Amino acid sequence: MITHRSNSSDRDRVLESTDLVALVGESVVLRPKGREHLGLCPFHEDHKPSFAVVTHKGNAFYNCFSCGASGNAIDFMVHFHRMDFLEAMKFLAHRAGFELQGRSSSAPRATDPESPAALRRANDAALRFFQRSLADSINGQGAREALSARAIDSQSIEAFAIGAAPAQGDALAQYVERLIDHQPANPDERLDGATIRASFEAAGLLRRRGGLVDGFRNRVIFPIADELGRCIAFGARAIDPADQPKYLNSPETALFHKSKSLYGIHIAKRAIIHARTAIITEGYTDVIACHRAGVANAVATLGTALTRDHARVLQRLCDTIILIFDGDTAGQRAADRAVEIFFSAPVDLKICTLPDQLDPDELLRQPDGRARFDAAIASSEDALTHIIRGFRKELDARPGLSARQRTIEAMLSKLIALGLGTLDGIRRRFVIESIATSSGVPLVEIERALLASRAASPRTPEAPSPAAPLAIPVPVERGGRGRAERDFVSILLAWPAASSVRIPTDDGDAAPLSEFIIPSMFEDAAARALYEPVYHWIEAGKGFSMQDLIAELADPSIKALAIELYRQGATRCSVEGEARAGLIAASRALDRQSQRLQLANAPAATTPEELALRLAQIRAAGPRPSAIARTARSAP
Ligand code: ZN
Repeated sequence: MITHRSNSSDRDRVLESTDLVALVGESVVLRPKGREHLGLCPFHEDHKPSFAVVTHKGNAFYNCFSCGASGNAIDFMVHFHRMDFLEAMKFLAHRAGFELQGRSSSAPRATDPESPAALRRANDAALRFFQRSLADSINGQGAREALSARAIDSQSIEAFAIGAAPAQGDALAQYVERLIDHQPANPDERLDGATIRASFEAAGLLRRRGGLVDGFRNRVIFPIADELGRCIAFGARAIDPADQPKYLNSPETALFHKSKSLYGIHIAKRAIIHARTAIITEGYTDVIACHRAGVANAVATLGTALTRDHARVLQRLCDTIILIFDGDTAGQRAADRAVEIFFSAPVDLKICTLPDQLDPDELLRQPDGRARFDAAIASSEDALTHIIRGFRKELDARPGLSARQRTIEAMLSKLIALGLGTLDGIRRRFVIESIATSSGVPLVEIERALLASRAASPRTPEAPSPAAPLAIPVPVERGGRGRAERDFVSILLAWPAASSVRIPTDDGDAAPLSEFIIPSMFEDAAARALYEPVYHWIEAGKGFSMQDLIAELADPSIKALAIELYRQGATRCSVEGEARAGLIAASRALDRQSQRLQLANAPAATTPEELALRLAQIRAAGPRPSAIARTARSAP
């Protein structure tokens, strides 16, 4: 009998009986801190835990300090698991072991055939049909044989709700007609046949070929579920080798996005949270074989490489993702992609290559399979290390200085293209240090290259492109004079330590660089703008870096020039000795040109007072022309 308790008392009961930490903890790894539990926010791209579940004096709510998402258990189901309010209430009541009392129970009829509710209804009906077909002595025979050939036992069939699509081609279509005929008597709950058929079509379960035919025929059906175990799509493997393609998936719908879905996630989730590690295989049968062998934290992508969306799902659940490949070439290809994801998500990514080109299913069926599988997992290699190791080989094979330089540049620009430049904080330092360690490239070189890539693309930190040249045009230099100034600056920027060089003078002495070359000597305004801050650092005896300089510069085109010149300097000189020699040569060239300029530009003294002033300046400045230029230009 219906008791007339209000919906609000249902709501209170649902909230009172739900442990929010446990509920959220099934989707987000939470760690206790004081009275709160903290984790990575599932509502925005969170890189450090800013999501808190607070349970205090009978209140339970979640709150994100970063994006402001907040709410109670029902809100969490609505916003995170995309349920409607009533669905969330029912789900939580069922979870707590009671039925809703209010005037609630029947969901509103979904009249839009492409709505999530309509798609879900179609998928649920098809799931029952496929499971029944597998058990059917005639319809399920081919699928049962295919499953037993792959050693998939009845326990696995039940756990993964595996089914069969009959060979006849319109069996599901006929089943849908029977569903339409046997709807509830209550007219409020009935839908017209066209709407029901349309929802099966939208879910890819039926297709129009003149009349309606089955979307899947003569195939083993692997239902694909969301984290809560709700069927959102189907994967279908051909039974007859002549049927192509071998694997078919449901189309993308409001429920199913291939790039976000992981096969087996609903079964593996707890184990993934527990182990803080997810194992990613390449196919349905690999996942099933893993679970049967007790590797409970295995899931699979659905015919795609691991995407950022997958990583986003998994980073809530674990710290480490291990990608399994059955051969070296596939592993190499996937490593690039994996590193890209590693750079964009706060997870560690490892590559595991199984022995003898075996896939997990084949390996785990061998007598010592589990032990060999575990050994392979234990020796999986960090994705970044995997890439750098390839470069290390190249470096060792190409001993020449310029070849080495090119290889290092290629490695850095590849890593930058994969997103290295977008990293921040501790993770950035960790990555840079591991690149330095495994490549033998000095830390400071890597820092500089990164800095250059950042400054070059300030507006697109998400997607730096390796092929794109610097986005900001560099002002064109004018004549030999400008070139000499820029040559000088380029070496200095690439090799700040070389600025301690002393420049031999004509009188057999040697002068510090800052005494020899001063900013006011520069004709090229852009080169002068770069040298001015550097000059002051050198003069003050302070060390400096590209980072300091970039921070000092406001004009984006000057920043771009700094980076361009830095690159030129790094290409021109590959060791510090070369840079010192280069600086001496560039300084002397600049100084000679400066003398000529000085003589050519000096206005004739027209009065005795001017002449006296000029002579005083020359005497005060000492013997070098650059020093004369310096005092002359700083004179009022
Ligand atoms: Zn957030």
